[in-house]
Amino acid sequence: MSEIALKKLVKQLGSIRGRHTELVTVYVPAGYSLHEVSTQLKSEQGTAENIKSKPVRKNVVSSLEKIIRHIQLYKKTPEHGLALFCGNVSEKEGAADIQLFPVEPPEPIKTKLYWCDQKFVLEPLEEMIKEKEVYGIICLDKSEADIAILSGKKILPMVHFDSIVPGKSRAGGQSSLRFARVREGMLQDWLKKVAEAANKLFGEHKEVIGIIISGSGPVKEFFIRDNYMHAEVSQRVIGTVDTSYTGEFGLHETVEKSGDLLKESSVIKEKKLLQRFFDELHKPHGLVAYGVREVINALEMGAVDTVIVSEGLDMKEVEYECSQHGLQKKFVFSDRKAQKCEQCQQTMKVLGEREVIESFEEKVKGFGTRLETVSSDTREGQQFLYLGGVGALLRYNI
Ligand SMILES: [Zn+2]
Repeated sequence: MSEIALKKLVKQLGSIRGRHTELVTVYVPAGYSLHEVSTQLKSEQGTAENIKSKPVRKNVVSSLEKIIRHIQLYKKTPEHGLALFCGNVSEKEGAADIQLFPVEPPEPIKTKLYWCDQKFVLEPLEEMIKEKEVYGIICLDKSEADIAILSGKKILPMVHFDSIVPGKSRAGGQSSLRFARVREGMLQDWLKKVAEAANKLFGEHKEVIGIIISGSGPVKEFFIRDNYMHAEVSQRVIGTVDTSYTGEFGLHETVEKSGDLLKESSVIKEKKLLQRFFDELHKPHGLVAYGVREVINALEMGAVDTVIVSEGLDMKEVEYECSQHGLQKKFVFSDRKAQKCEQCQQTMKVLGEREVIESFEEKVKGFGTRLETVSSDTREGQQFLYLGGVGALLRYNI
């Protein structure tokens, strides 16, 4: 499962609440024997038979049954392990709708867990998604500069420079004006050098969604004010942080002090993207498309720069089979899965389904198109969802 699909699923699983302690979570670490897990779960099933409340007992036992049966489908443990979530998701009291959500994650599972609760245990998966928010740090003053990549909680130092820019106090005997000029020139060269390294690094690391400029003193402000970096890189700057140190201490201090900045930045990024979308939408010939059909058409013409999909969109791509007219795929809202064949009006059989986002992940391949998801937590995000929840920024008018 891709990260983007996992992100959506985690959100969905996080919203499920059991009526009782009856939602079952199982984590199987990479390399761990599924056979052993299966044996353990069978014994847990025996324990669950002792649960006093009859409906709870029934739900837990059936969930375990479903999980065990699913595990038996595997010949061996998937490369990164396996996470299984199963329980009664019915919103009606007394009704049972036991559903299983298997996850083969994009990164190795390290936790081994069997847990029964009113909610699913999602932290190990949430960690995997969080890691994907990648930021850049440029920590500098007039004497040294460090450039690092922040991936989740990990700081990866990439570049370190020491400068030869002297302090403001000059050696005796020099003309103060001349000294100031020389110093100014050296400072500019220094900032150019830092900017060149930043351009190169962040030019290569496109996954860096935001860059923080930190350091003690005003040098970081000059660095931003005088546009030393390429526009494409400086656009990603999300703010500055004052630190007491530079060097490795400075990098750590930057991370400690940028909590709010990082939280805001993913929201801001989303807002900016949607603002661009709505700006284009309001122009007479705006470079924009919306609605699943329109976006796919534009995509297949190679006209799409960025596809935007709302995380709030409750739509699936379903594969159907009509006994007379064969296979067909349709995008339908989750509660309207029963569909008739347009040609013969027969109700079709559902063969399989996947999230819209997964479908787009596949479709954007080969077109150099970016795929972005947005939440529906912001006002713009809500508007976008009302508009259908799927949109595209175009490269040219179609
Ligand atoms: Zn038909």
